[in-house]
Amino acid sequence: MAIRSIRTIGDEILTKECKPVKEMTPRTAELIEDMFETMYEANGVGLAAPQVGILRQIIVIDVEDGKQYVLINPEILEVSGSQSGSEACLSVPGKSGTVTRPANVKVRAFDENMKEFTLDATEYLARAICHECDHLKGHLYVEFAEGPLEDVQTEED
Ligand code: ZN
Repeated sequence: MAIRSIRTIGDEILTKECKPVKEMTPRTAELIEDMFETMYEANGVGLAAPQVGILRQIIVIDVEDGKQYVLINPEILEVSGSQSGSEACLSVPGKSGTVTRPANVKVRAFDENMKEFTLDATEYLARAICHECDHLKGHLYVEFAEGPLEDVQTEED
């Protein structure tokens, strides 16, 4: 496993649409492991492949609910309700902004074994899924933030 460098806002790659994954390969499996490692190292709760420079539809999420989610080729099937809250992104360091998202999301995706599943997510997990799916379409939360972004105190080490 290896830590990959995280692309930040202004990098063209973050504005591009990602292609679907057709099959699991050792290279893609390694990418997924690296994405988790990179996300944890940066204290993030989610990471999309374009953030490490790979234009594939792959998302990893860990919102500390005891599960590690891998969503490949995710498709949001249904949304309902709404939630407004603070959001940040590893590709927009040191900032946060208020974004309104659906309260509930039903998503269909493939896992790391390319097994299809559907997931009903609420609250913070629903927010994370929406945020990461936006990355796969070349969008950052800052495009949807209400009002100016705020500076976030980050730990220096
Ligand atoms: Zn992000």
